[in-house]
Amino acid sequence: MNPSVASPNPAPAWQGIIHRYRARLPVTHETPVVTLLEGNTPLIRVDNFVRAIGGDFSLYLKYEAMNPTASFKDRGMTLAVSKAKERGASVVICASTGNTSASAAAYAARAGLKCVVLLPHGKIALGKLAQALMYGAQTLTIEGNFDMALRIVRELGETGQVEVVNSVNPVRIEGQKTASFEICDQLGRAPDFHFLPVGNAGNITAYWRGFREYYAAGLSTRLPQMHGWQAAGAAPIVDGQPVENPQTVATAIRIGNPASWSGATAAVKESGGRIDKVTDDEILNAYRLIARSEGIFVEPACAAPLAGLIRSVRAGLIPSGSVVTATMTGHGLKDPDTAMSQSEFKPTVVAATFEAVRAKIGF
Ligand SMILES: *Cc1c(COP(=O)(O)O)cnc(C)c1O
Repeated sequence: MNPSVASPNPAPAWQGIIHRYRARLPVTHETPVVTLLEGNTPLIRVDNFVRAIGGDFSLYLKYEAMNPTASFKDRGMTLAVSKAKERGASVVICASTGNTSASAAAYAARAGLKCVVLLPHGKIALGKLAQALMYGAQTLTIEGNFDMALRIVRELGETGQVEVVNSVNPVRIEGQKTASFEICDQLGRAPDFHFLPVGNAGNITAYWRGFREYYAAGLSTRLPQMHGWQAAGAAPIVDGQPVENPQTVATAIRIGNPASWSGATAAVKESGGRIDKVTDDEILNAYRLIARSEGIFVEPACAAPLAGLIRSVRAGLIPSGSVVTATMTGHGLKDPDTAMSQSEFKPTVVAATFEAVRAKIGF
């Protein structure tokens, strides 16, 4: 290195969530750490968006798209695959609406383990499928939905021959709770409200656990209200019963019978928050608005809590001066088909001249 450009006090390099939060995670010094340096994602203040929706509070987005496979699933997967390796497993398996399979496949590749993923028929965002294939997972499409795929995976897990890395594996939740720690560390306090999408409900369970642990340890002085949002066509918790055939443009939360149902209801009840649903039109409207007002491209599921926030502002539920955080669970590039159909892109072909382009732009 050229000594004239080296920083005199280099910041310690980030080494992933297990290294950073080891004392609060179920690992020992014998656990082999399988990491792609997940975590440490940006917390982005979005004033343009708040202004556009008529709010009077601070909103910060926890941009989990900046994880190694571009979704929050990596936080749980570093732990799940490390523990699988510690136990001597040779195969990991999961059912997935897309992001769990992308993450499992990446961490399994890193660990030198075989990975099998079961995807529901038809509705996987293109980028997520591309990831699982590139990372070398054996990829099977089930003639059925996510809930059916998860049932099969759980049965396979009971044979003891494969390690299930869905969020029914309790260490996934443990890894995911580190996002709450980071929010408190980055903000210097816990938020008043936390908004996030709810599919299988592992993440809302994990966030609430994380906020409570920091509070109990004296590392924060308040607990946020937890506000979880489902899509109207896949809202079993809101509707109070499993949905046989869930439907929504937000494929990451197209789940009819959440594995962590009780964790979600406990989080909402204990925090004084709520769980509610928004329509696909509201989701797509918020999906475009956050991209156009802030330059933040998320996948459709992330727009469910943003749409929920728009509703909450209209209903007068967010007091002026509040500090609100929301999880942006996955990257917009994962689902190019939805982006293209929402942009109504029609190529505008113009002559290759200065005049023609200037006339088209209108100045
Ligand atoms: C998995 C996922 C969700 C849903 O999280 P749950 O823990 O299943 O509730 C939401 N958004 C994205 C992008 C996801 O990948």
